[in-house]
Amino acid sequence: MSYLNIDAQALNTYDAIVIGSGISGGWAAKELTGKGLRTLVLERGRDVRHVTDYPTTNMQPWEFDHRNQLRQEVREANPIISKCYAFYEGTEQFFVKDAEHPYIQEKPFDWIRGYQVGGKSLMWARQTQRWSDFDFEGPARDGFAVDWPIRYADIAPWYSYVERFAGISGNKDGLATLPDGEFLPPHEWNCVEKHFQQKIAGRYKDRHVIMGRAAHLTQPQPVHYQQGRAQCQHRTICERGCPFGGYFSSNSTTIPWAAKTGKMTLRPNSVVHSIIYDEKKGRATGVRVIDTHTKQMQEYYARIIFLNAAALNSNLVLLNSTSTRFPNGLGNDSGVLGKYAAFHNYRAGVSGEYDGDLDSTTDGRRPNSPYIPRFRNVLKQEMGFLRGYAAGFSAGRASRSDQSGVGADLKESLLNPKLGGWYVGSHMMGETIPKESNFLALDSSLKDPYGIPQLKISIAYDDNDDKMVKDYQEQLTEMFTEAGFKNIRVRDSHASPGLDIHEMGGVRMGKDPKTSMLNKWNQLHAVKNVFVTDGACMTSTSTQNPSLTYMAMTARSADYAVKAMKKGLV
Ligand SMILES: Cc1cc2nc3c(=O)[nH]c(=O)nc-3n(C[C@H](O)[C@H](O)[C@H](O)COP(=O)(O)OP(=O)(O)OC[C@H]3O[C@@H](n4cnc5c(N)ncnc54)[C@H](O)[C@@H]3O)c2cc1C
Repeated sequence: MSYLNIDAQALNTYDAIVIGSGISGGWAAKELTGKGLRTLVLERGRDVRHVTDYPTTNMQPWEFDHRNQLRQEVREANPIISKCYAFYEGTEQFFVKDAEHPYIQEKPFDWIRGYQVGGKSLMWARQTQRWSDFDFEGPARDGFAVDWPIRYADIAPWYSYVERFAGISGNKDGLATLPDGEFLPPHEWNCVEKHFQQKIAGRYKDRHVIMGRAAHLTQPQPVHYQQGRAQCQHRTICERGCPFGGYFSSNSTTIPWAAKTGKMTLRPNSVVHSIIYDEKKGRATGVRVIDTHTKQMQEYYARIIFLNAAALNSNLVLLNSTSTRFPNGLGNDSGVLGKYAAFHNYRAGVSGEYDGDLDSTTDGRRPNSPYIPRFRNVLKQEMGFLRGYAAGFSAGRASRSDQSGVGADLKESLLNPKLGGWYVGSHMMGETIPKESNFLALDSSLKDPYGIPQLKISIAYDDNDDKMVKDYQEQLTEMFTEAGFKNIRVRDSHASPGLDIHEMGGVRMGKDPKTSMLNKWNQLHAVKNVFVTDGACMTSTSTQNPSLTYMAMTARSADYAVKAMKKGLV
């Protein structure tokens, strides 16, 4: 009998375990297998194979039962997820429905999730800007959170490393606030966007309008062809899954690459319940997994563990990993686990109209748009609020053509559209300040369908966020006016936190184990063979979309972990 147990344990033992197969977990899998480690990737959702499991990817609007709109009953059953712009008939299969994984909104929070191989990498909007030292030095300069244990120079080579492999398009703009990367050619501007860019450049020294940097193959390189990917076709239905691999997803890129090494075992339908801590060995030895089909618990073992379940679920896993040594969650000597959670403030928008350039219109589609990097409080604190905001911007015309009517009338209006003027729009992307009062905890009685305590989310805006919304609205109105735009309208959606889908923190990095969970290598201070490299590790939030930073952080940390393993340090 004991022989059998030893055999079972040996069978379930790997060099490394990766929890989650989304953007960060996919990178962990690629890096660890690429460095020769037998790696088990545990994913709570079902398998989604590149191309074959994108059922709606080639469907036309008329081929959908409901013309690609959400059914009323789906909307009513899913008030949370229905708020996400990317959730529609063609993408329903990739989003977690409200009832599937309940959580407690101590304060209103829209938790948008994708539980499948690939995680949210299938549906993301692919915006990929680097951080700069204005971001990494922010907390120390402005006196909030704790100082980051790394600076831009630590991560810059890893940004380059992941950009080359993932394929990031962009222009070299030479801005200190938004360092340039290893770019494929940028997307094109339309004439009104160009007009706005020039007007802003003429009027402000410190404000810039640039083309967004995006994870699209505008000109594939040999490494992308090796991945089996091809040039982006500008179909702009990316979130249904792309059969060309035109944008970066774990499914098209990192997971198949890891599989090709022969070192990866991918186990979908495996909910990680907790990480096992061995009190005698003083290290984590493995994980407890619940099989979603059998509901049975199974243990798996490894030398190192990468936790990449996405920010809030990584908090949940650590909080649920209790032992005599760590009664309040794995590695939680400091008591900060779950605290200092933060997000991005996407509440506000400004729109308007433009009656110039009426002899031009747009042609085709573009899966990206221009971007206005942060310009407030950059070199020094100068406003009545901390930090600042970036903004998206775009101008369009053709999509205002009349699409009403049926038959010959519809054909006529589509072939000879009567175009109105141009519309212009912007949305805010504000940094929020991580605070102790914004926290995550486990509920003491309510459980999810697998018997795991439900996550309690207590996150809200504050006065700093409100001031930032007001300033964004005023400044974008001024900039739109400068460009000659008319009928300018400002909005504040008052949307709950969460819809930005950039939740971060709770397992923050820092120099001091008394005030942080992770060191500069994303390693738990107190349990050196556990690494957390998704959004949970973020000490502050910056204004840039965060996923590129998670990718770079993961590759850097995996490199360290394997070297440390070889030296017997973990
Ligand atoms: C519509 C949309 C637009 C977005 N746009 C952008 C953008 O433009 N730029 C940007 O930077 N970011 C964007 N994001 C956010 C981006 O998708 C996330 O930042 C990114 O996917 C996070 O990577 P991750 O690995 O942490 O999590 P995910 O990609 O969510 O992967 C986590 C994985 O872990 C699995 N998992 C969770 N819990 C467990 C468990 N207990 N056991 C086993 N597995 C588990 C999940 O099923 C999932 O597959 C967008 C997201 C959405 C939905």
